[in-house]
Amino acid sequence: MDFSERVVNLVPEGAYHMLAKAQALEAAGKNIIHLEIGQPDEPTFPNIAQAGMRAIEEGYTRYTPSAGIKALRQAIAQDAGNRRGLSLTSEQVVIGPGAKPFLFFPTLALVRPGDEVIFPDPGFPTYQAMVEVAEGTPIPVPLREEQDFSFDLQAFDQLVSPRTRLVILNSPSNPTGGVMPLAVLQHIAESAIRHNFWVLSDEIYSRLIYETPAPSVATLPGMAERTIICDGFSKTYAMTGWRLGYGIMPHALAERVELLLTHSIGCTASFTQIAGLEAIQGQQESVEEVVKTYRIRRDVIVKGLNQLPGVHCRMPQGAFYVFPNVSDLGLSSNALAEYILEKAGVALLPGTSFGHNGEGYLRLCFANSLDNISEALRRLQSALNKL
Ligand code: PLP
Repeated sequence: MDFSERVVNLVPEGAYHMLAKAQALEAAGKNIIHLEIGQPDEPTFPNIAQAGMRAIEEGYTRYTPSAGIKALRQAIAQDAGNRRGLSLTSEQVVIGPGAKPFLFFPTLALVRPGDEVIFPDPGFPTYQAMVEVAEGTPIPVPLREEQDFSFDLQAFDQLVSPRTRLVILNSPSNPTGGVMPLAVLQHIAESAIRHNFWVLSDEIYSRLIYETPAPSVATLPGMAERTIICDGFSKTYAMTGWRLGYGIMPHALAERVELLLTHSIGCTASFTQIAGLEAIQGQQESVEEVVKTYRIRRDVIVKGLNQLPGVHCRMPQGAFYVFPNVSDLGLSSNALAEYILEKAGVALLPGTSFGHNGEGYLRLCFANSLDNISEALRRLQSALNKL
């Protein structure tokens, strides 16, 4: 079949691919510990789930404006603004089904064929996909372990060109858990102003931080008018299946993104939006509790991984991923991930699911019980000893 250039190079997300493989093994009777998919193991917090169910009973089952219910846009403007020290209006907030639309649609609205888009490698695979669909030119910039997986600024400076239209940042990062320091953001912001490009800041893990807050590039001088913040409810409030996220951007761009939503998804489920209102305005202790739990699990998994032969793992500062270096083990990341799934019954991802620079690494999600994490470490120890 003949497909358009926009879709011929698209490939599945590694996490879904590995999940399908692991599930096939489970169906054949094998016990699998799932550390591949990046989502909270907790159910949605009860106050939010109940608000969603009440909303259905109260008739929130019809279309809403494409950009979302006004009350939720206002609540997000206030909450997301306060958390970052930004003064926002509700017209700058657009709501959609998940955070992903606020990667895809601003890219479609801004990137013209041939425009260059710089994004992190290793990084979330949607970045490359959406640039290809927009017919832009993907320009990966390496993240270096020795710089705690922040941008390699020397490489970045060389990659910026008059054709650079958009730079994508993701802090805290999937897959590395790295947080970009303020000085690095300042360097990128100065470059954005000098070279006149936009920045798309994927801040979906902004609430899952363990040491210090992750600064937002949007707060830096001159950046509010050239930054899109992508954030959402999936990770913070354990709402991955509800599909609720938002973008924060200058008003004129928000209007264009709203039109893309109108003509693609129409609007976001109205009861999901009401549940989102409760998520923001209700108690926040559950988020704080979950972050404490993740911190304990992070410490256990990092310590355990560092005790395995040939494995070195940095301490992630945010999100719920570890990205251990396994290059001393003598197998490609992909072969190692397959071996671990088959031999140890632990599903995890090769670093190459996140780009070429992920070679030599694995990604494990630690949003899982301490029992499962400890058992996974035991199984890894035994499988790696047999290599
Ligand atoms: N951005 C990053 C870095 C992610 O890891 C994810 C989900 O895994 C998303 C965006 C998408 O979030 P959502 O499920 O709300 O669309």
